[in-house]
Amino acid sequence: MRTQMATEAGRTTAPSEDRALVGPNLLAVLDGVTAKDETGCEHSVGWFADQLAAELLRFAHLGPAPALAEAIKQTRELHSGSCDLDHPDSPSATVGLVQIKNDVLRYLVLGDATVVVDTKQQLHVVSDTKTSRTAGANPTDVEHALTGEIPLHDVKRVAILSDGAARAVDLFNLFDWRKALELMAANGPDDLIRKMRAVEKEDAKAVDWPRKKVSDDATVVYLER
Ligand SMILES: [Zn+2]
Repeated sequence: MRTQMATEAGRTTAPSEDRALVGPNLLAVLDGVTAKDETGCEHSVGWFADQLAAELLRFAHLGPAPALAEAIKQTRELHSGSCDLDHPDSPSATVGLVQIKNDVLRYLVLGDATVVVDTKQQLHVVSDTKTSRTAGANPTDVEHALTGEIPLHDVKRVAILSDGAARAVDLFNLFDWRKALELMAANGPDDLIRKMRAVEKEDAKAVDWPRKKVSDDATVVYLER
């Protein structure tokens, strides 16, 4: 199995709040939710995403949902003494996660991250763009995640994308998901981001494709067997 990743900040003036994770049996993309002015937390969104990513890797021996619940709990403990974690705008992140273990691929999507799994039979595209569910300060946030499993021998390719990268397909319609995977197989995931940035640049006032951020942090983890 071969894994590639690509990530690029949406702006040159601020660090990316996306995180990509490639562990021995766990792949994930986390996208820190842009902070409001007042969050009740003295840490940055980037800090939150870093802690959650590190804890996810630490609990990768668990299944995706228990691992994320434990990561949320451990991250909470890191700043429950200093910050108001009951604040409605407390830092949080969307999560797309794939775990490969015992010949099974398990996925988890919480929020508008996208997991695409290409199998011999069909293309699974999993995302939850209709809600604003995220992984925040409470382990019960995991209850809202979309999860599933696929026998590993059926899996050909997998991609995990933050919403800032998935918009290449679901907003700009540069290609469909199957073509996006073919592009990544041929040129690597950075080519998807490059092509999307070119379109964003052409529509710098967000007129042709109305969107809140002209360019968003964009991250892709791509795996092929
Ligand atoms: Zn904090």
